[in-house]
Amino acid sequence: MYFWETFMKKIFMFFFLIISLLAGPAQAAFELETQKVTDNVYALVGEIGPRTVHNHALNNTLGFVVTDRAVVLIGSGATPKAAELVEKAIMQVTDKPVKWVINIGVQDHHWMGNSYFADKGVEIIALARTVKGQQANVDDELQRLTREIHDEVTTIKPVYAPHPINADTIVLNLGGIEMQLNWSGGGHFMQDATLWLPKQKVIFTGDVVFHERMLGIQPHTPVLQLQKAFHAIEALKPDHIIPGHGHAGNLAQARRDTGDYIDFLVNNVKKSLVDWKDIGETVNSLEDAPAFKHLKFYDGWHRRNINHTYLYLEAAQ
Ligand SMILES: [Zn+2]
Repeated sequence: MYFWETFMKKIFMFFFLIISLLAGPAQAAFELETQKVTDNVYALVGEIGPRTVHNHALNNTLGFVVTDRAVVLIGSGATPKAAELVEKAIMQVTDKPVKWVINIGVQDHHWMGNSYFADKGVEIIALARTVKGQQANVDDELQRLTREIHDEVTTIKPVYAPHPINADTIVLNLGGIEMQLNWSGGGHFMQDATLWLPKQKVIFTGDVVFHERMLGIQPHTPVLQLQKAFHAIEALKPDHIIPGHGHAGNLAQARRDTGDYIDFLVNNVKKSLVDWKDIGETVNSLEDAPAFKHLKFYDGWHRRNINHTYLYLEAAQ
């Protein structure tokens, strides 16, 4: 009897072990990568790839500034759960609380975590233009998010900056640090803004700059304004760039990964239009762009970007 019991126990343990091995290790919770940029300024780097259930749509770069009194957060993530992960990452660096959240972008992952912070009494700050853009695009953004993160979308409560700033540029002094919130003429969305810290020479560019991965020109992307916005960032001569996607870097990297690419698209497509080339010829003639092959998503996006740039510039003529 005893023999059988031990034998059966062993058999059971054996199958349990096999099943555990087949199932693989449990997937670890998603974490943002904290990158120190300069004294008291940090980038929070999300997934470089697409939005997923696992990453809570945190596939962009946010950032924060630790002041004497409290923390200024730039971007709140796409959902309340994402916002909680952002707060957790900040708590690894400082025990000061988040007191201000600045929204510089219209896209979901820049602001849809606002409710998490607003519920704690954190002040949400944004330009009126950006808030208008968020409101105009909220339904489309939520619809797309549903396809990507499924049920988590139901936890999102869109909360906007309660006192949107009716100006194209404003100087803020938060916790003793001067910050300039600028509308530079549009980015990925027309109403995207940037945040410039003149003393630290740091700029949070939002979706005007992409590092490591190719930026996407969507049908709604105002390509010429995006080019203008990039040039406005260059004119400030920043030492540090915290992009909308990818790791923080310097101006040379932003030029190589984003500025040169926007110029490539605009200049070449403009020339095609002057030469009366049709859209198919234009895409085929520009599809090989060795200078940008190092960027992630080149294979999937480059041809589509030429296509959208063509349609945009043709309509703008
Ligand atoms: Zn983005």
